[in-house]
Amino acid sequence: MINVTLIPVLDDNYAYLLEGANGETAIVDPGEAAPVIQELERRNLRPDIIFNTHHHGDHIAGNAELKRLYGAKLAAPAKEQSRIDGIDIELAEGIPFSFGGEPVHILETPGHTRGGLCIYFPESKILFTGDTLFSMGCGRLFEGTPAQMWESFGKITALPDETQIFCGHEYTLSNGEFCLRIEPDNPALQRRMEEAQTLRDQGQPTLPVTLGTEKQTNAFLRAGSAEKFAELRALKDRK
Ligand SMILES: [Zn+2]
Repeated sequence: MINVTLIPVLDDNYAYLLEGANGETAIVDPGEAAPVIQELERRNLRPDIIFNTHHHGDHIAGNAELKRLYGAKLAAPAKEQSRIDGIDIELAEGIPFSFGGEPVHILETPGHTRGGLCIYFPESKILFTGDTLFSMGCGRLFEGTPAQMWESFGKITALPDETQIFCGHEYTLSNGEFCLRIEPDNPALQRRMEEAQTLRDQGQPTLPVTLGTEKQTNAFLRAGSAEKFAELRALKDRK
């Protein structure tokens, strides 16, 4: 199984440190190098791989420093190859990849960006969603259409409910407030908000969260159609 450590970076981003059973180590979305290096040094680890979910600066700005310091290989979306410097391994859906002695499945999930992806480890049942899916929210449609994002959600919701989701930002409470406006009487949503508030009051992250919980609480996943999703996304963007 892969052990995951959250590393807060920038204002509200999360990078992740992955340790595989075979000793391989990876970093997901290093939006900033210094806090990641600090955690690696503290644990006396050297990353073999850097994964990027998409090309935005707050997910890739630490790539170059980590490559330089540790010789880590950068694995990033093939479809964003012209927008991310220094890619060593191009990731694409359907192309076999492995890490930590486990298979890695790439889900291409356009919507937030054109070439963005989610990284799924079916044996450890963990999913890194970048800015495609947040707890009780989703990324803005900077480059894609609502129909594309809705199709991307379909790839995520097809995974097992017990899948643990690790996303790119700590936006859970503000997202949840929006969801409560849409579904004020949803008991699962009320419970999740109480839990998230308690965690934040203790200075803890609200992640990971299971896909099953997201299916019960995330208004965007619960929209039911690309059209309804588009309305919700537009409503949230106007907020
Ligand atoms: Zn982004």
